[in-house]
Amino acid sequence: MDEIKLYSPKVMMDILDRYGFKFSKGLGQNFLIDGNITKRIAEIADLDNSSGVLEIGPGFGTLTQALCKKANKVVAIEVDKSLTEVHKGILNYSNLKIIYEDFLKLDVKKIIEEEFKGLDVKVVANLPYYITTPIIMKILEEKYKVSKIVVMVQKEVAQRLNSKAGTKEYGAITLAVQYRADTDIAMIVPNSVFMPKPKVDSAVVEFKILPKPKIEVLDENMLFAVIKASFSQRRKTILNGLSNSLNLSKELINESLVCAGIDSGIRGEKLTLEEFGRISDEIFKRAKD
Ligand code: SAM
Repeated sequence: MDEIKLYSPKVMMDILDRYGFKFSKGLGQNFLIDGNITKRIAEIADLDNSSGVLEIGPGFGTLTQALCKKANKVVAIEVDKSLTEVHKGILNYSNLKIIYEDFLKLDVKKIIEEEFKGLDVKVVANLPYYITTPIIMKILEEKYKVSKIVVMVQKEVAQRLNSKAGTKEYGAITLAVQYRADTDIAMIVPNSVFMPKPKVDSAVVEFKILPKPKIEVLDENMLFAVIKASFSQRRKTILNGLSNSLNLSKELINESLVCAGIDSGIRGEKLTLEEFGRISDEIFKRAKD
């Protein structure tokens, strides 16, 4: 029997109507309706019989279908339980398991360990726009054993993830990503390939997870506290921003900045990851006493 072309808008609407499914804007439900794009995402993820894929938000399953055809195993996490019956009718792949839970509340590390023994694990997703940042932060902070992350996000978010110090897109998430991965915008995707059509274009970002973080620091928590503090008060100088947010004296911060070779009047958005690393180490040495 021929496979159902899930990416066909007519097939999608017929099936969703049959099940009485209603798109939820709140859950970021914009489903892909272009088979070339789903195929291309699977290619970017570089999947073969040794690959395990963790998919976040399979939705109607257009991308899931392309992933199941290439990977050894796919585990998809979908928060919308109203898709359960739809999935039973269309996603009959022996290498697919769907878990109906909120990704943000799930012990994903445990799932990866249990489900993908011996496989090279990759995260692949067309992310729900309303929680793109928390999802990416969860993946990075919980340090899953994955070699690659390939995610579709809004174009402007992709630019932030891939930006350089001193640009207006540069932010705390840019640095969190840079710390653990090399990123690349693999493809720009027009809004016309989604149903319903969102207002803005998207982009597929590829993260290659590094075997070890790009810089070595004395304390990772301090590094992220310093980064967060520097960007939460963007208009303040680094000296004022850090002493306010970290609740440490200006003297201590000033001394740390001098020893790190950083001008205390500079703004956080001008600093590179390496410079944040030096500042964080100098503050850590002094704050722990
Ligand atoms: N992967 C499908 C595609 O490409 O056509 C759907 C992508 S759609 C942009 C995002 C999907 O994520 C929706 O199916 C939505 O229900 C699901 N979702 C939203 N919040 C979620 C969460 N917290 N955990 C898991 N899935 C979620």
